[in-house]
Amino acid sequence: MNITILGAGAMGSLFGGLLAEAGASVTLLDINQQHLDAIRRDGLRLETDSRSSTVTHLTACRPEEASRVPDLLMLFTKTHQIAPALLSARHLLGPATWILTLQNGLGNVEAISAFVPRERILVGVTTIPADFLGPAHVASHGRGQIRMGHADRAALTDHPGHRPFNEGCMLCQALALLNRAGLHAVADPNVWAAVWEKVAFNAAFNALCAVTGCTVEQIELVSSGPEMALAVVAEAIAVARASGVPADLERTQAMVLQSFKTHAGHQPSMLQDILAGRRTEIDSINGAIVRAAQAHNLPVPHTAMLWTLVSLIDARQARQSEERTKPVAMDLALHAMSS
Ligand code: NAD
Repeated sequence: MNITILGAGAMGSLFGGLLAEAGASVTLLDINQQHLDAIRRDGLRLETDSRSSTVTHLTACRPEEASRVPDLLMLFTKTHQIAPALLSARHLLGPATWILTLQNGLGNVEAISAFVPRERILVGVTTIPADFLGPAHVASHGRGQIRMGHADRAALTDHPGHRPFNEGCMLCQALALLNRAGLHAVADPNVWAAVWEKVAFNAAFNALCAVTGCTVEQIELVSSGPEMALAVVAEAIAVARASGVPADLERTQAMVLQSFKTHAGHQPSMLQDILAGRRTEIDSINGAIVRAAQAHNLPVPHTAMLWTLVSLIDARQARQSEERTKPVAMDLALHAMSS
């Protein structure tokens, strides 16, 4: 199978590297030129708990430089980068190309379906962790799995399509390939519940840690910390259920309580993004829950407050970065006028 990974940061590089090692023909597409140059020069360094390796038999280039139409395009940009990334890769989307998204948040399938029909989109969640350590160097420590299925709800119920293995079924082929690469993947006929439960979890932890600077277990330092996390989860699950998705409140709240022990010391990605001055995914997590709640007239005050607070941090950081680059842009303009 020809695989293209659009967005080859932490997750995209990890998946691309492992799939290439498992024998797939992989192209990594990204706009981080330093990262692409380093992969082409030295290969991609992968580190996991069990081993470290360098993958050389993969292609790495910018989307506009690629020409091979893939069977499966895996999307691993941040959620707000989906539309510009797919726009620059639209010449690669053939009539039989499928897209798989394991990105966090809601609204990803809707954004993708502007480029390929929903019947050719696979969606899921993953708990596999990945860190970008520098150009051509990614690591994954700890275990995780992938739950995935058809984005099209009708296809999920009418054609589960993953048992027994069916040659013509993209879900079957993708599962087989991911498992061959050691990326534990299962088909989930209830994949939208898995997506919403992860969104509920992220809306609580990512946003709370992003606003406070706390690591996961530090949320327990005051008793109202876990109470707030559980309240956000309850709001999100109520919205999921009102939207017709049978997400499970007890299971998600148990996951939150368990994380205080299993994720001790962890800085969720939203906090990492803020510390690095990058835009967060708050809009597709807390923001998307608030928008869906409004459609059902459901109150989600804790989720909405965290959305506003993190959006303010995002906006302040964007303004500061604009101000930092303004003098450089003016210098360049003056230089261009005088030469
Ligand atoms: P990342 O920021 O490391 O990678 C995103 C990559 O997309 C970057 O390399 C960036 O240069 C590239 N990109 C941006 N715009 C692009 C464009 N127009 N064309 C091509 N490439 C472009 O992010 P990540 O941590 O790999 O996360 C990717 C997604 O997976 C997110 O939705 C995240 O929430 C989700 N996720 C991450 C983890 C994790 O442990 N890192 C775990 C589960 C889910």
